[in-house]
Amino acid sequence: MDSIDLAQARQQDDVDHALAARPKPSTGADFCTVEDCGEPIAAARKAMGATRCVACQGRAEREAQRWAPRAHG
Ligand SMILES: [Zn+2]
Repeated sequence: MDSIDLAQARQQDDVDHALAARPKPSTGADFCTVEDCGEPIAAARKAMGATRCVACQGRAEREAQRWAPRAHG
């Protein structure tokens, strides 16, 4: 192995590390994590880290609003 090979190997190593350190673009689940649902999650939503299908996410947001503390008045 000459110095050029070494340099290339080193570069590849850096790339591997960079890729490993980079946050994964798709951290979401493949399927809705809500019990008894299990609907597949669209790739676009998965890419945003969604763990629930559209229906369950919408329901969760409505629930959150319902239970959210409101300002008096
Ligand atoms: Zn769901």
